[in-house]
Amino acid sequence: MRVLALLDGTLADPDAPQLRVDDLGVHRGDGIFETILVVEGRPRELGPHLDRLERSARLMDMTIPPREDWQRLVAAAVDAWPWKDDREMALKIVCTRGVEGTDVPTAWGLGTSIEEQTKRKRADGVSVVTLERGIAPELMERAPWLLLSAKTLSYAVNMAAMREARRRDADEVVFVASDGTVLEGPTSNVVLAQGNSLLTTPPSTGILRGTTQGALFRAAENAGWNTRVERFGVDDMLAADGVWLASSVRLVTQVRSIDGAEVKADPALHETLGALYESNYS
Ligand code: PLP
Repeated sequence: MRVLALLDGTLADPDAPQLRVDDLGVHRGDGIFETILVVEGRPRELGPHLDRLERSARLMDMTIPPREDWQRLVAAAVDAWPWKDDREMALKIVCTRGVEGTDVPTAWGLGTSIEEQTKRKRADGVSVVTLERGIAPELMERAPWLLLSAKTLSYAVNMAAMREARRRDADEVVFVASDGTVLEGPTSNVVLAQGNSLLTTPPSTGILRGTTQGALFRAAENAGWNTRVERFGVDDMLAADGVWLASSVRLVTQVRSIDGAEVKADPALHETLGALYESNYS
């Protein structure tokens, strides 16, 4: 199932051609996006997603349409989705720099069903390989032109890393920085449990500030957990009481092994974290 919505709140045919070949998003990956989970008609973390879209635009020196336009687009996609048949939609909102020379951004939102493979990963957990990202953790400050921490359309490297994971018989990737500290997945954040604490990597390392990790930590703090945002190594993942990958579409997915070594995967703790995340929306 797919729905395609535009900024003026109209719908378009997702199977019909919509883009020009000279759109900078197409031939340079010059644009930004967000993927929002909508459950039973309710978008999750819409404010933080739109905040992050605006932040990515600032890092890219792009002027993007105002927030009300994005809200109208999201509402149109939500209205068009057949909620009786499918309770979840992954809504990818995209804004490119537009056709070369025009300075008019191109924008759309494509809603799709959650892939079966993602549902399996949510239910069964994942095996992970660590892969080098080739960046130093302090590079973001030094080299803003690298666009670290912007959610740009240039995801070819992230997708190549996922293919490398499959070559190594793993489901997912965790990127590590040049000093060996943990960064993020190609489309997820890493969360560890250590006793009564939850840990994640600081956004200052150039990773994306996760809306799902943010929602999980918000609920965890309210429930009395300590939350820590600090650098940690692969050894800390291996020694943790649990490791998860968090993202809008995969939710809080349990990691079962890292580079072939099993990690602790207590089903009760996994259920607790899943319930904490869901408590934001009940
Ligand atoms: N890090 C990267 C590189 C991502 O692409 C994503 C989402 O796709 C995330 C982290 C997780 O972010 P969120 O929880 O907001 O979906």
